[in-house]
Amino acid sequence: MSQNIKNVASVHKSPPSHWVGDGLPVRTALSHHQFGASVSPFLLLDYAEPYYVEPSLTPRGVDEHPHRGFETVTVVYQGELEHRDSSGAHGRIGSGEVQWMTAGSGVVHEEKYSEAFTQAGGWLEMVQLWVNLSAKDKMSPPGYQTLTQSQIPEVDLENGAGVARVIAGRFGDVQGSAKTFTPVNLWDMRLNAGGNATLRVPDGYMMAIFVLKGEARVNETAQLSAKDLALFEREGEEVVLSAVEETVALVLSGQPIEESVVAYGPFVMNSQPEIVQAISDYQSGKMGRLR
Ligand code: MN
Repeated sequence: MSQNIKNVASVHKSPPSHWVGDGLPVRTALSHHQFGASVSPFLLLDYAEPYYVEPSLTPRGVDEHPHRGFETVTVVYQGELEHRDSSGAHGRIGSGEVQWMTAGSGVVHEEKYSEAFTQAGGWLEMVQLWVNLSAKDKMSPPGYQTLTQSQIPEVDLENGAGVARVIAGRFGDVQGSAKTFTPVNLWDMRLNAGGNATLRVPDGYMMAIFVLKGEARVNETAQLSAKDLALFEREGEEVVLSAVEETVALVLSGQPIEESVVAYGPFVMNSQPEIVQAISDYQSGKMGRLR
């Protein structure tokens, strides 16, 4: 193992799930409230584990609500979700696809099962991440990127160990297509039983590994089961992920944003007055409305 190893700082079991809206039972595996600046630039990782949705006529999900000051990133593993927001953006994402929404200065959106999925029913599994924006980007115009299967490059790992799907940032020489404001890497890793991958990030980056499925070891030291989260030290550049069983893991890393974080519900700003302003702007309709 190299000198530049990035050590595991801690391993965490996910807490029990809670409902978000009426359609998404999720476990909050990572949050700014729990881990503070150590997880910057990330604010939240919610995991909706596989959940069977009975066929229905009424789409479930999360009704109209606002956001300001950060980005929401939704990764669908199973099922199909539909999004629409007050900027006029609209999109539908299915298995292996990603929606990267920049709330910026403010949007109002709803997140629901798609109509087809609602009527057919089936398994739903997804992750939602909140990625912070630095002070200079918080009031950027809202944005919306849909990343379909073909827009997410897939890297074959050495020795047939599996694949890394590069949602954002860089994996080796391969660049993902999501546009980010600060350097962020997001890799959807699929490892075969017995497969090893060496993960490399610049020194000083935050890194976390969340295991959705399987059993894995990191740096030959820590053991991760499904729904476990490993957080790493900022120092170091290399992590070895070894799959004991077939493993699906989401690897997040990025350059920390060294600024104060004041989070209040759906708004994440740098100061309390900015939160008061966000609430007032939402209530007076400045973040728009859904038609
Ligand atoms: Mn939302």
